[in-house]
Amino acid sequence: MIPFLDLKAVNQQYQTELKEACSRVIDSGWYVLGKEVAEFEKEFATYCETEYCLGVANGLDALVLILRAYMELGIIAKGDEVIVPSNTYIASILAISENGLTPVLVEPDIKTFNLDPVLIEAAITEKTKAILTVHLYGQVTAMDEINSIAKKHHLKVIEDCAQAHGAIYTNKKGQSKKVGSLGDAAGFSFYPGKNLGALGDGGAVTTNDSELANTIAALRNYGSHEKYKNLYKGMNSRLDEIQAAMLRVKLRYLDKEIIARQTVAQAYLKGINNPLIELPLVENINAHVWHLFVIKTTQRDKLASYLTDNSVQSLIHYPTPPHQQDAYQEWKNASFPISEEIHQQVLSIPISPVISQDEVDVVISVVNDFS
Ligand SMILES: *Cc1c(COP(=O)(O)O)cnc(C)c1O
Repeated sequence: MIPFLDLKAVNQQYQTELKEACSRVIDSGWYVLGKEVAEFEKEFATYCETEYCLGVANGLDALVLILRAYMELGIIAKGDEVIVPSNTYIASILAISENGLTPVLVEPDIKTFNLDPVLIEAAITEKTKAILTVHLYGQVTAMDEINSIAKKHHLKVIEDCAQAHGAIYTNKKGQSKKVGSLGDAAGFSFYPGKNLGALGDGGAVTTNDSELANTIAALRNYGSHEKYKNLYKGMNSRLDEIQAAMLRVKLRYLDKEIIARQTVAQAYLKGINNPLIELPLVENINAHVWHLFVIKTTQRDKLASYLTDNSVQSLIHYPTPPHQQDAYQEWKNASFPISEEIHQQVLSIPISPVISQDEVDVVISVVNDFS
């Protein structure tokens, strides 16, 4: 079986360095929010080209904390609306409802799977305060368009970068910037399977807004900057030293891994030519870091079982659209046809920094033989 993602092999590439880093933390005697976290925050801020980075417990919390901080700063209030793509992973939406805010679903562009800027303005009301855009599957959203709509309507732009660490956006002026620096604030996940994965849970917020960063620094730690002085009703959402140490090792290899993923993606894009299968649209080669390689077909379930029969593992991202989840009864009668089509037709095939050229060739020929 060609595995969808061999996580053990991914981490074994760096096992000597990971074990050294692990020992360093054990020997330090300090395990939560310490020197490793502070160093990782500096290194990841530099990587993302932002002023600030704050390590937190996971990607969901990163997004929850950004919105919570805007609420503490009086920029967003309970009951306000946040625009979010209707086909995202549910965590982006949970971050909004967790704060007593209303998620407003906007359909994606069927070709890029990302928020369709053309549809955003129709969803804006007096209560809209932010756009939470998601660089889904690893491809950057149309940020020029989103930022200009946000500017016109005085909205905050929050990036969900959980799938897009290191993706580079080139704006209309030809300037290139990394995700995490393209809006007002960004949330990252370091869940083990993400492109920059810890060996457990982890997350981060990046921003150039000093007030926001300062507020989140307190909110992640019981609402406190100073021990036993609580400014806010905060959370406990901290990054462990051990995970920060793992991430510092893996961050050094992130760009190399992105290139490996892009090489696999190029091979698929060149090699797969089955008329039953629609390949993902790539607008700019640097703007996609291929967390997932997602193909579309009207015969998705048949293709999935055919791939299993031919020893190629595949997964569906995601089988059920958020508005049809039991958790969100308020959307029980809502219809998001683009999202529904995506959820019925997408299939993710193996991609990772450790898949071999031979395995890639097998995937291509198996997919091309599907009829
Ligand atoms: C993984 C993911 C999250 C949540 O990250 P966790 O670290 O698992 O909490 C949020 N948004 C998207 C798009 C994700 O893929």
